[in-house]
Amino acid sequence: MKDVGEQLAEQLKKRNWTKNYQQLIRDAFEDKEVRAFIRNNQTELTQEDIAKSASKVYEFVSVKNKIKRGEETLAPGYDPQLTLNNHLIDVTYVPSEALMVQKKRQAVHNRVRSINMPKNIRDAELADYDLEGRELAAEAAGRFIEEYTSSPKKFHRAMYLQGSFGVGKTYLLGAIANGLAEEGVASTLLHFPSFAVEMKNSIGNNGTMKMVDEVKRTPVLMLDDIGADQLSSWIRDDILGVILQYRMQEELPTFFSSNLDMVQLEKQYLTTNNRGEAEPLKAKRIMERIRFLAEEFRIVGRNRRQFKK
Ligand code: ADP
Ligand code: MG
Repeated sequence: MKDVGEQLAEQLKKRNWTKNYQQLIRDAFEDKEVRAFIRNNQTELTQEDIAKSASKVYEFVSVKNKIKRGEETLAPGYDPQLTLNNHLIDVTYVPSEALMVQKKRQAVHNRVRSINMPKNIRDAELADYDLEGRELAAEAAGRFIEEYTSSPKKFHRAMYLQGSFGVGKTYLLGAIANGLAEEGVASTLLHFPSFAVEMKNSIGNNGTMKMVDEVKRTPVLMLDDIGADQLSSWIRDDILGVILQYRMQEELPTFFSSNLDMVQLEKQYLTTNNRGEAEPLKAKRIMERIRFLAEEFRIVGRNRRQFKK
């Protein structure tokens, strides 16, 4: 077989293309991948076909080189690929490996729904978790992910993380949510005090009940910082109570984090409403659901926030 470049030059002369363009096309046909492609498909391609495909070959090589030089292309994240299309050479664009990795990461992130949560927990990982003072909790978290993902239909008791401000409770919830997401499990992480304010501000609005409905049905729910606000009877009984009742009935895993331990949560948070009225029986009912859903873990350690800028 004659050299592809030479043969092409002959064809191009016939077509009266400008010198400059001819040179660019000739260079494109010198590309290793192009030569290999033509060699592998020589039974399908006549010289005329190859000449007609010149602009596609040129497109392929110029986009490929742009990517190599790190320049932006018309379809960022997609690599050009030579294909045969009805006896002509064509270029198709396939997602690059980097794009596939990014898409996968995005899909994992999308499985974690965060409502009023700090941004930095997006990347929280159990593997990065400093274990000091929280060995049991970290171990239980790993076990939960394993057991839940291997039998998601069975009931798995989740965790109630108790500890003072800044010890890493929220971080651990985020790490569990991300760990589950890696395994394809969707979860909702929700900062309970802000959620309660939003609910109050939208009483009577259709959105309220829709939101409660979505939250209560999520496969794995995490209520962060419960006990940090002043509770109204309405939030306790019609929002929190409704969510927990459903989750208990349906045996859906529900995590909690709080500065208060379970006993304090019942006595200091759930019993007295924001008007100062004591409703111990109602507090007890909520507490029973929390205990059914989650096992208490105490997390100790320094306040990590002091060391952050
Ligand atoms: P809490 O919810 O208990 O108040 P956070 O989870 O918000 O505490 O943690 C406080 C800060 O310390 C956050 O910036 C968090 O990213 C960081 N942090 C917490 N735990 C860890 C950990 N085990 N390893 C690394 N950083 C952590
Ligand atoms: Mg927190």
